[in-house]
Amino acid sequence: MESGESGTALGLLARHFGHTAFLPHQEEIIDSVLEGRDVLAVIATGGGKSLCYQLPAIMKGGLCVVVSPLISLMKDQVDSLVATGIRAACLHSALSGEERMQIEEDLRRGDVQILYLSPEKVSRHTFLTQLQKMNLSLFAVDEAHCISQWGHEFRPEYRRLGILKKMFPVVPVIALTATATPAVQSDIIRQLHLSHPRIVVGSFFRPNLAYAVVPKKDAYRQLCGIILRHRNDAGIVYCNSKRTVENLAKRLQRDGFSALPYHAGLPGGRRAEIQERFSKNGTLIIVATIAFGMGIDKPDVRYVVHYDLPQNLEHYYQETGRAGRDGKESECVLLYSRGDRRKVQFFLEKIEDGVERDLAYRRLGALIDYCEGSSCRMQAILSYFGERCPPCGICDACRNPREPFDGTEIAMLVIRCISELSSSFGVSYISDVLHGSRGKRIRERGDDQIPSWGRGHEYSREELQQYLHQLIRSGYLSVEGDRYPVVAITASGREVLEKGERVLLRRPGKGKGKKSVEVSDSSSARSSADQTLRLFQAGLTIREIARTRDITEEMVGAHLEELILSGAEITLDDLVTPEKQQRIRDAIREEGSDDLRTIRQRLGGRCSFTEIRLVRASMRRKVP
Ligand code: ADP
Ligand code: ZN
Repeated sequence: MESGESGTALGLLARHFGHTAFLPHQEEIIDSVLEGRDVLAVIATGGGKSLCYQLPAIMKGGLCVVVSPLISLMKDQVDSLVATGIRAACLHSALSGEERMQIEEDLRRGDVQILYLSPEKVSRHTFLTQLQKMNLSLFAVDEAHCISQWGHEFRPEYRRLGILKKMFPVVPVIALTATATPAVQSDIIRQLHLSHPRIVVGSFFRPNLAYAVVPKKDAYRQLCGIILRHRNDAGIVYCNSKRTVENLAKRLQRDGFSALPYHAGLPGGRRAEIQERFSKNGTLIIVATIAFGMGIDKPDVRYVVHYDLPQNLEHYYQETGRAGRDGKESECVLLYSRGDRRKVQFFLEKIEDGVERDLAYRRLGALIDYCEGSSCRMQAILSYFGERCPPCGICDACRNPREPFDGTEIAMLVIRCISELSSSFGVSYISDVLHGSRGKRIRERGDDQIPSWGRGHEYSREELQQYLHQLIRSGYLSVEGDRYPVVAITASGREVLEKGERVLLRRPGKGKGKKSVEVSDSSSARSSADQTLRLFQAGLTIREIARTRDITEEMVGAHLEELILSGAEITLDDLVTPEKQQRIRDAIREEGSDDLRTIRQRLGGRCSFTEIRLVRASMRRKVP
């Protein structure tokens, strides 16, 4: 029987793949496979999973069978392996009879090292008996989360893969996936009958992805803002329907952006062409449904925008994971509205299987918590996947933290109200009662007669809802039921009411408790000023910054003023000549006022408003 290629793993890594070192976890996974152990590897997209079976396959010798769900992906993998001198092949329905016979002949001769197959093919019994005659070294199950109903991409044909361990009890199996919550991990192990597997869960932490959730309001304008920040970059905009994709792409094209639509309704050739263009072109915008992305390996995607609400956090993390593969800072922005949530619910209602529908609801609930949360986005996502991490420092929540305040009174107000209500209700009903609504349902239930009715009238409904969500997240309240979630008081919630235990809340809006929209507006203004700062520090003039960012010079001036006032490192001499500075300072002193118009008039218009603004800011900053 043929033996594997000789040499160290590192030597073969260099010889066949051209890499000089392993990525995190690759080595321990490869070692385990070489020891003959079953392995479950959960590693983020782009983490180098393929190598974890390809390298052992060539070292062990014999045949490694890889189960992969998409023909296009298989072909890509095979092509690149063959190009590096590895004997790889794939069997799928699109092959001609001749091609198939050639591959089967190669297989019989033991002349294939890695064979890619679709899950349908693998579970065919006659084929498996043929395989039994060969020297199998390893099974690799790619996209292994597809086997689990708890996962987000369940494929029934994966279910039959359990047969592999039954027919080939001594051949090790490595299962690979980029997204698996702890529940899905156990399910994969159970379904594939892995025996005492080595479980390697890589970190999902992507320190260069800057996440933000922006309340959706004039979405097109918001999108253009993001694109304009990245005018020399490539990006992906995800939408939920073909129609939105088509319309949005057209509108962007009309406005002079190079954007292309992509969805499953396009002919295969056209789709391949768009993918190809995207991977070659540095500044293309792809407006797509979730059909776009599998197998895309473009390193410099600088932003991923979700124009509509994704289905769940698994999808969301996978889709945004396509940004910043090269490790450079990239933006992931989700435009969120409650209305979109109802649209997703509408689709979930069409799921016939009750268990699956409930699961879909639960996952949607987790996504909503993410959108409405106020803690670090990266932490929120990773904790969903069972991982802890430090605050990322670059998401909207980290950049613009909301200070906690003593919210005991509000908490008591909310909890008391829930305890008085006629029955169990959801967040919006409770907020309406507190706010003092006389809606039909509330009157019919008699909930406009309870003592708590209207006690929270000074807060908007939106604010009350946000406080309820916060109380849920911090465990004073709980939610029961996925489709029609109702709020219940937990033991610690009862303690607040009985013992007045202190509760910390965060203001939904900035300062005076306005609508949450303003949070995002102020946070985007903040980051907008930050971008100006970065360009300024890179040596650009006000005019150049304005051009690069496609904003007015006045706006750049306003940013710089704000930055000076907040104590940023800005040398005034780089912006206003010392001579002009002197003149402006003198004028302000002599005039006894720093009103822009007054000063400009006094100077006879020889200095611009922006120059006056900046000098004024530097003077104001110095006065304690
Ligand atoms: P995944 O399947 O986990 O998404 P891939 O196997 O497609 O990831 O690998 C992602 C990228 O990382 C590929 O471009 C691959 O060539 C590269 N890669 C894999 N292993 C290494 C390594 N040890 N050093 C450098 N690059 C690597
Ligand atoms: Zn963060």
